[in-house]
Amino acid sequence: MRLVEAIVDANHRALAGDEKAGLRLAEHADALPVVALTCSDARLNPLLPEVVGIPEEQFLWVRNAGNVVSHPLGSTARSVALACLLEGAREILVIGHTDCRVARQTISALLERLAALGIARESLPENLQECFALFGSEPQNVHTACEMLRNSPLISPRIPVHGLMVDLQTGRLDWLVNGYNTLPAVGEVALATLQTARQTVTDMREGMDYRVGSRAFSDLPVGQLVAEGADWLGARLNTIEELWQAMQETTRSETAVGLSAGPSTHKEVSEAASQSSRVIPVPPPLTFSKSRKPEP
Ligand SMILES: [Zn+2]
Repeated sequence: MRLVEAIVDANHRALAGDEKAGLRLAEHADALPVVALTCSDARLNPLLPEVVGIPEEQFLWVRNAGNVVSHPLGSTARSVALACLLEGAREILVIGHTDCRVARQTISALLERLAALGIARESLPENLQECFALFGSEPQNVHTACEMLRNSPLISPRIPVHGLMVDLQTGRLDWLVNGYNTLPAVGEVALATLQTARQTVTDMREGMDYRVGSRAFSDLPVGQLVAEGADWLGARLNTIEELWQAMQETTRSETAVGLSAGPSTHKEVSEAASQSSRVIPVPPPLTFSKSRKPEP
């Protein structure tokens, strides 16, 4: 079981009364720390990170009103990206919550509050919906935030972006977006690396045509070294490509006998991802009557 699968499983078992339910951190060391984007609602303070079972030092917490990501290059995407780049977060969790006040807010109510604080309508932007990033559905807002982060060029496609909802009353976690489903296939990553290396060899060889004063670059000692390096790298890439093709042949024959049918091309991965995001159900409003026990 991967990290977030284990988190949700432990959470559900704990709510069902299993006193031994919990996350075995040692089994998930390579998926920690995580960065979580949540609402700034203070009612989350006693819940997180406890309900996900991750210790505070492994839980990098980014907060804003409504856990909104407005743009793939906006300040929230930047904070999440820097948590990955500078603090080593391995997985991203967007955790929405039930009864979010940002979702309950209307423009007219907001204008009344602003007026009561002496803020005139004329001094505000035209589109208040966009300005305050108001939304109508907490689950849909989590889906949008995950999509924005997934499409952010600042965040590696190898980092899973998950969407969860937490119930403020019970602490129950529910999946909205399974980020493991949208990770690129291992083969796709390997192929991209191979193509980059091949381009490097091409660039090195093209550099041979330069002239330094009256002498060709390839006639200079450094030029000869570069040529040897390009030959060495090119030969190894040929070997890797041969191995790669042999692996592809094996996979194809296994697929033919029904052993493997996973997506292999970028298009197939994208289609599988979009299908998976389409079929992940948005849960109805949670109606647990059992109150969460306060911690001692
Ligand atoms: Zn909220």
